[in-house]
Amino acid sequence: MNNKLKQDEFELYDLKIEVAKAHGEFVCHHKVGDYFELSGENLSIPAGQTFTIYSLAALLPLLPAKQRMTDPNDFISTDTDVACPDPNCSAIFRIKRMKKRIFIHNEVSVIPLKKRKKI
Ligand SMILES: [Zn+2]
Repeated sequence: MNNKLKQDEFELYDLKIEVAKAHGEFVCHHKVGDYFELSGENLSIPAGQTFTIYSLAALLPLLPAKQRMTDPNDFISTDTDVACPDPNCSAIFRIKRMKKRIFIHNEVSVIPLKKRKKI
């Protein structure tokens, strides 16, 4: 955790999720190197690329965890690859943590912060 953050700030990793090489054939319309990026709550896909909704559905539950700072011993810190949910497709999606981005609580939530006790 970054100790230089102001009291109302927090950090999340930007993520890049890329179609990685596979050992077999793809069933879906994946192309090695295709990707999307996630910054905060915003997902972006480069112009001209597509990403299957079924693969996206498999990835979505993991992405908020991967955005957050995690213990180095936590599998979320070390594991990067997610298989395509189609059991006949050999595509692997690699989740890469990119730079950390600082967010300010009141810019992402209307719920006020509770005052913290000083130790
Ligand atoms: Zn697939």
